[in-house]
Order: sequence, then structure tokens, then C-alpha cells
Amino acid sequence: VTARTPLIAGNWKMNLDHLQSIAFVQKLAWSLKDAKHDYSAVEAVVFPPFTDLRSVQTLLDADKLQLGLGAQDLSAHDSGAYTGEISGAFLAKLDVTYVIVGHSERRTLHAEDDEVVAAKVAAAHRSGLVPVVCVGETAADLEEHGPSAVPVAQLKAALAQTPAGADIVVAYEPVWAIGSGTAATAEQAEQVCAALRDALREVHGAESAGATRILYGGSVKASNIAAFMREPNVDGALVGGASLDVDGFASIVRFPS
Ligand code: PEP
Repeated sequence: VTARTPLIAGNWKMNLDHLQSIAFVQKLAWSLKDAKHDYSAVEAVVFPPFTDLRSVQTLLDADKLQLGLGAQDLSAHDSGAYTGEISGAFLAKLDVTYVIVGHSERRTLHAEDDEVVAAKVAAAHRSGLVPVVCVGETAADLEEHGPSAVPVAQLKAALAQTPAGADIVVAYEPVWAIGSGTAATAEQAEQVCAALRDALREVHGAESAGATRILYGGSVKASNIAAFMREPNVDGALVGGASLDVDGFASIVRFPS
């Protein structure tokens, strides 16, 4: 069995401006330092809005804070006449490591389909970024197709342009659980994450599937993280709302292992 370092990812969405982001990251770092957090045991990554990235990067760099930096989206294109878009290369220049691709809010509010998601995964890799590929079913999908069919199909489609061995993180985020306050049960998350790992094995082989982290996301908070982390195929969490509270996010990062 390959050791997969647990990953706790905080997706701030469109919250915290660049001044607020500096205060937040400083407090988070102090909180983790006070708790003597073992950074080698759990990787913690924040995903601020684009306009905060430079400030957060400077802070992480100056204080040698061991928090990872991610972005919430990137362009499928490398450069050119794409007004308002942000390229993977721009993100890589700011020491961004991870980039969320295919979040359900992008899929529904910005009409990103599987093809766009696959192109963004490829764009992330061209810039040396690790895409956090989000998949998940709606309540209607769940009723119609059962728990795993839609997330597995979305994952296979997202990897259409990606060679085996390319570094990715997968995030299983049932749309019905995001921002709803009602998380999936740990058993439900494990069932789908196991199916996603099977799909990875099918597409990219056993070694790659064994090394890839699969996160659960959807109303994760300090009180339910431990149950998810006990599941063998859940390697961490993508956290939205609860990542905006310093102490709450720090408690999730320090989930009792
Ligand atoms: C998300 O949007 O990625 C998410 C998991 O949100 P929340 O934790 O607020 O459900």
C-alpha cells in the first residue's frame, strides 16, 4: 500500500480580500504552531481568490510557513486574447502548487462541461500545477443513477487528455452536500471514493491509483472530519464554508488521527 499524505484543502471561494487574507493566514499559522501541528503528517493548503495569491505567497515565503497554496480555477488556454482569464503559468509564477478544476459551482454557474474540465486539467499539467479534479453527483443524479456512476464518468472524462503518472488530486464532492450543512456519511464517501480509485486503476494503472489522493468535500467541519479520515479510500477533505474560520479550519487540519 502506498502512503498517501492526508491533504486538507480550504476553498475560500469568493471570500476574504487580500488584506483579510494576510490576517487570516497569519492567524492560521499561529494556531497550527501553537498546537504543534506536524506538517509532515497532514498537508494543509489554502485556495484564496486570485487577487489574494500574491499577498499570501509573500507571507508564506517570508515566514517559511508550511502551508500550501492553491488557486480556485485556471484558463484552459496558455495565453492570448482571453479577457479576464488567468493562465496556469501566471499561477506557477506565484508558487501556486494546486489548482481546483471542475468545481460544481464552475460546472453549473459557468457552464463548464467535461470537455472544458479535461482541457483545464491538461493546462494545469502544462504549467506544472497539480489539478484538484472535482467530481460529484446532484441529488437527481443520485436518484437516477445511484451513487458512483456520475462521479466516475466525470473523472474518466476529466482525465481524457492526461497520461498515467501525471500528478492529480481527486475531490469527490456530492453537489447535494456542498454548502448544505448535510455531509455525506463516511460510508457513502468511502463507497464513491473506492469506485473512483477503481476508475483510476482502470485508466492509469494500479501504481498511479494507489498513489493518488482522493478527498471528500461537502459540509466537512471539525466535528465530522475524523469519521471521513478513518475510511481507507478517503485521503483528506476539500473544505468550503468551514475553511473561513481560522480555529475551525485549524481543528480540521489537526483531525484526531
Ligand atoms: C466546496 O464548495 O468545495 C465545499 C466543500 O463547500 P462546503 O464545505 O461549504 O460544503
